[in-house]
Amino acid sequence: MTTTEVINPATEKVVATVELVDAAGTDAAIERAQRAAKDWREVAPGDRARILRRFAEAIDANLEELAQLEVANAGHTIGNARWEAGNARDVLHFAAGMPERLLGNQIPVAGGVDITFHEPLGVVGVIVPWNFPMPIAAWGFAPALAAGNAVVLKPAELTPLTAIRLGELALQAGLPEYVFQVLPGKGSVVGQRFVTHPGVRKVVFTGSTEVGKQIMAGCADQVKRVTLELGGKSANIVFADADLERAAATAPYGVFDNAGQDCCARSRILVQRSVFDRFLELLEPAVQGVRVGDPAADATEMGPLISAAHRDRVAGFLEPSTKVAFTGAMPEGPGFWYPPTVVLPDAPTDRVLTEEIFGPVVAVLPFDDEADAVRIANDTEYGLSGSIWTNDVGRALRVSRGVEAGNLSVNSHSSVRYWTPFGGYKQSGLGRELGPDAALAFTETKNVFIATQ
Ligand code: NAP
Ligand code: MG
Repeated sequence: MTTTEVINPATEKVVATVELVDAAGTDAAIERAQRAAKDWREVAPGDRARILRRFAEAIDANLEELAQLEVANAGHTIGNARWEAGNARDVLHFAAGMPERLLGNQIPVAGGVDITFHEPLGVVGVIVPWNFPMPIAAWGFAPALAAGNAVVLKPAELTPLTAIRLGELALQAGLPEYVFQVLPGKGSVVGQRFVTHPGVRKVVFTGSTEVGKQIMAGCADQVKRVTLELGGKSANIVFADADLERAAATAPYGVFDNAGQDCCARSRILVQRSVFDRFLELLEPAVQGVRVGDPAADATEMGPLISAAHRDRVAGFLEPSTKVAFTGAMPEGPGFWYPPTVVLPDAPTDRVLTEEIFGPVVAVLPFDDEADAVRIANDTEYGLSGSIWTNDVGRALRVSRGVEAGNLSVNSHSSVRYWTPFGGYKQSGLGRELGPDAALAFTETKNVFIATQ
């Protein structure tokens, strides 16, 4: 049995040793899930709903333990980690309302009755990255279970601890055995088996665009369903007529939250040229005010990066020629720290503008007018989220409709609510998670005609 050591990114100390599931173990789990799925789909909708509510309540009862586990495993600030565990609970409560609401249609036809059913797919494989282990897992498994599927879930190798705990809580809450299995292991082994094993009918993948493309290509072989949530290079567009003080005070939190390891990070700030210098003056104290340090402390706003390798990768985006406007604070001593960093790109082709850095680095650049802002915002293959700061409602709506991205916010940086749809345009993804239709992504629609003559 191979194992992996889980490291606390704030201290570099070993938190736990976890056994990795191998290919044979993955196959065995998928086969158990196939059997469990047959019974789970027959559980009455109201009973499935009740079990999911109990699972949500079990998370709530253990919320502080889950949050502390995430602080130790992922270096998330305790405030964020509590929100993340609460989000997994809320997503389950929301999903618990779905089994009785998987409504079909009755469609007028001649000579009979026509009805549609939303039937479960069978076994769903969920592949989770390390940046938001609990929420991203729950966005996949909760609606999948609600729709009557069994789930096999692979957490990221770096962050398996909360997922393993969620698997235990599901069993305690009364979810039948093997309906929800957590399989810590390598992406190239466990994740790859989800793609190639014919028993898995859908793969939900969140992670890099590069791996997402491989998953999609692999799934094509069996016409396997796929939902992809991939990278982003989102724009925060600040117009001259905006409340500049608020726009500048909040901009750091729109990109440096979770140390920038967020697919929705607003990592390009586009500022109208007439207020560009003023905005930078206001941004500097805001960036320097971000409290970076011990993630377990209540007041901390930004923790470390996930690993030494990731810190090196982030640092690699800054070349000797890169113009750094200013940086924020960073603690000394052990831990994979990187300071909030504001850069001024030279050209539209600079890597800091074109690639997802996934760390606390933001590029600020000027634009001339509304059309220019939309053009620059869309000058990327990504299209996940973005913000628009203006006091002109018409402009807010025009620009919101003009930006090619799935999740936009006006005078705010919020992207995620469990009851609103989430997902990307272009190479940021395929399909949507959360929102009112979440369960439908885990069903097939069946049409049945019944002759009455
Ligand atoms: P990644 O390689 O895409 O990993 C995401 C998940 O996919 C992990 O569980 C990983 O397992 C698994 N995986 C990797 N290769 C696989 C394969 N061939 N088949 C099936 N599953 C596979 O992401 P990463 O290497 O952790 O991060 C690299 C970059 O991706 C980041 O710097 C960032 O730019 C981007 N990223 C984006 C998001 C997002 O939310 N959109 C999240 C994370 C990363 P292992 O953990 O075992 O490798
Ligand atoms: Mg990888």
